Amino acid sequence: MTTKPKSTLLRLWHGPLTQDLVLHPGEFGLGQVPARLKPDGTTTVVCGFCSTGCGLNAHVKNGEAINLSADASYPVNLGMACPKGWEALTPLTAPDRGTTPLLRDAGGQPRPVDWHDAMTEFCSRMKATQARHGAHSIAFLGTGQICTEEMALLGCLFKFGMGALHCDSNTRQCMATSHVAYKQSFGYDAPPFTYADFEESDTLIFIGSNPCIAHPIMWQRVLRNKKSPTIIVVDPRKTETAMAATRHYAIQPKSDLTLLYGIAHLLLENDWIDRAFIEKSTTHFEEFARFARQWSPDKVAAETGLSVADLHDFAAAIHNGKAVSFWWTMGVNQSHESTRAAQAIINLALMTGNIGRPGTGANSITGQCNAMGSRLYANISGLIGGHDFKNPLHRAKVSATLGVPDEAIPTEPSWAYDQIVDGIRDGTIKGLWVIATNSSHSWIHQDAFNEILGKLDFLVVQDMYPTTETARRADLFLPAAGWGEKEGTFINSERRFGLVKKIRRAPGIALSDFSICKLVAEYWGCGEMFARWSSPEAAFQLIKELSKNQPSDITGIADYEHLDRAGGIQWPLAAPTESPPQERRLFADGKFYHADGKARFLFDPPRPMPEPPDAGFPFVLLTGRGTSSQWHTGSRTDKSDVLRQLSPANIYVEINPRDARRLRIAPNRLVRVRSRRGELTATAFITPQVQPGQVFIPMHYAETNKLTFAVFDPHSRQPSYKACAVQIQPLK
Ligand code: SF4
Repeated sequence: MTTKPKSTLLRLWHGPLTQDLVLHPGEFGLGQVPARLKPDGTTTVVCGFCSTGCGLNAHVKNGEAINLSADASYPVNLGMACPKGWEALTPLTAPDRGTTPLLRDAGGQPRPVDWHDAMTEFCSRMKATQARHGAHSIAFLGTGQICTEEMALLGCLFKFGMGALHCDSNTRQCMATSHVAYKQSFGYDAPPFTYADFEESDTLIFIGSNPCIAHPIMWQRVLRNKKSPTIIVVDPRKTETAMAATRHYAIQPKSDLTLLYGIAHLLLENDWIDRAFIEKSTTHFEEFARFARQWSPDKVAAETGLSVADLHDFAAAIHNGKAVSFWWTMGVNQSHESTRAAQAIINLALMTGNIGRPGTGANSITGQCNAMGSRLYANISGLIGGHDFKNPLHRAKVSATLGVPDEAIPTEPSWAYDQIVDGIRDGTIKGLWVIATNSSHSWIHQDAFNEILGKLDFLVVQDMYPTTETARRADLFLPAAGWGEKEGTFINSERRFGLVKKIRRAPGIALSDFSICKLVAEYWGCGEMFARWSSPEAAFQLIKELSKNQPSDITGIADYEHLDRAGGIQWPLAAPTESPPQERRLFADGKFYHADGKARFLFDPPRPMPEPPDAGFPFVLLTGRGTSSQWHTGSRTDKSDVLRQLSPANIYVEINPRDARRLRIAPNRLVRVRSRRGELTATAFITPQVQPGQVFIPMHYAETNKLTFAVFDPHSRQPSYKACAVQIQPLK
C-alpha cells in the first residue's frame, strides 16, 4: 500500500473532506478570475475547442461564469464566435460528468473511490507492469485539448519521473504531418502566418481545407478581405468553402501531390518563379526543378481529373497574384503521402517567393485548441520546447533548466500512436493511460483498436466523462476538470499563446489534469523532481526558460498577467515588450531555421492510393468534418441541445445523384456502407457535392471509423483517414 505523501498537504475544498492532497492553491476557489474581472464584470478566456483560439467574454456572477459572448477586442476573432464557442459552458454541467475516481471491482463494476485509493491503484499497477514487463511496457495517449503546462508536466512526469518512454497524442491524428513537413523544410516546426494574412492576400488557395465548416471564424477573416481576392479550393468534394470560392478544382481523391507537382512544372515552364528568393533563401531547388519537369500537363490532367486548361489557369492565378497564400488542413495531412504533399505546397510558396510578406505563406491550419502546444511542449516525438532527444546539448539544457538528472532524459523519441497500438497488439505494451481523448471512437479502423484494448493488463482513462467509448472500457477512471475549470495557456494556429482561466468550479472531486499529474508524481515517489512545477503559472515560467534561444523563444512574455493584458502573444517574443504588434509573421528576412539559414525543397514521387476502389468495393469513402456545431467524437458538443439540433443526429452518407439513380437509392433511404473492415447503416443524402464514384461520411459519428483503412504516412506516421474503398447497398 502506498502511503500518503508527506509534503505540503492541502485539503480539497469542494468535495467530500475525506482526502488530503498535494495541490497548488489555484486548484481551490476560482484562481485568477476575481482579480482579472473587467469593469463590466467579464473576463476574457480563450475558447477550448478549435485552434482558431477565439477570445470569449465570460460573464461572471458570484465568482462563476454564467454566460459567454464573443470578445470584440480580442485580435483573433474581433467579436465573432462559432456555435461551439457560444455553447462552451454547457458541456461542463452535463449530467454524466465524472465527479469521482471510479475503480472497477472484482465483479467488473466501476465503483467510486477517493483520490488516495485511485492514486495508490494507479501507481502500484503501473509499477507492477513495469517490474514484470520492463520500464517501457506502459504508455500514454494524450491530447491537444489540455493546457500547455499540463501536457508539458505530463510528458516530463512520464519520461523523467516514471521512467517510461512510449507516449503520443491525438495530435498525431491531425497535425503530425504539418509538424514534420515544417521541420524538414524550414528547420523548425514554424507555421509562418498570422490571421491578418487572410485579409491581406489577393489570392487564397485552400487545399484539402474547408474553413467555412472547420474554422468558421478564420473564414470570417477571409470575408473581411477588401481586395476581392481570388479564392481557389482544391478538394474532391464541393465543400461549403468550394461553393463560395472563385474556382473549385475537384480533383480525384489523393491526387493532390500529382497536381502540386504539375503546377510546379507549369510555373517552371513559364519562368513564373522568384529566382532571387530561391537563390538567397533555399537549397535543393535544381533537383526539384529537374524532378518537377516530369509532371507534364497531360499526365497530371489524366491523373487528377482536371483539364489541361484548368492546370494552366491555376498556375496563372498564382503568377498573377501579388500576395498569394496557400492554406492546408486535414485533406492534406490525413494521407498516405501527407508530408510530401504538405511540402509540395511549401515548395510552391518558396519557388514563387510567396512567404514572409503580408498575405502570403505556406500555411497549415491546426485542428485542436492546443495542438500547437502539443507540437512544442508535449515531450513526445520531440524533447520539450522544440528540442531533440538525440542532441546531447539539448538534453543538457533541459536537464539544467528543469533540474532533471541527465540520465533520466531518453536519447530517443517515443513510438508513434500506431506503433503503441501495435505494441499493445503484440504484448509489448501492457499498461495504457489515456488522457482527454476518445481513441475507441477516433482511431482509424476502430474495431481492431477496440479488440486489442482487451489485451491490456491495466487501462486508465482520465477524462471529463466516464461515458466516452474509451472510458467505458477503463479499469480506472480519473475525473478531470475541463476547459473553463482550470488555468493555463493554449497556442493557436498563428502561434499565439492565449490564456485559459478558471471560470467555473469542477464538479465533485474532479481535478485539473495538472493536479492529477502532480498527484501521480507524489504517489509515484518522484514529487521532488517536480517541486518547481508548483502551479500552472510556475510551469509556464519553466516553459519560458526552456524556450530561450529557440525559434519559439518566449522569454519576452512576463507572465499570465502580461498575456491577459496583451490579448495573447505570438511566438517568438525574446525581448520584453509590453505591447508587441498583434500580427507578426515569420521569415520576413528570408532566413529559415536550418543551420545554413535556408529552406529546403523536398519531394518524392507520388504513390498509388493504398486501397483504390475495385469491382467489389467500387466507391471511394471520403471523411471529414460535418458541421461547425460538431467537435470530433462529440464527447462535449453532444451535451448541448443547441449544438445537437444544428447537425443531423443520425449518421448520413452523401451520394452523387448519378450513383443514387443507378443503385435505386431514394433520398433519406437507409443504405448499408461496407468496407473490408466493417459496415454501418446510414441515411442517404443525395447531393452533387460528391463526385460520382465517391461518398462522404462525417467523422463525428461513432461508426465512421469502422470503415477506415489503417495506413500511415511514412514520415509523420499520421493516419490516412480520407480515402478507402467501400460498397453501398440500399436497405429494404
Ligand atoms: Fe471556439 Fe474555434 Fe468556434 Fe472560435 S472558431 S469559437 S475557437 S470553436
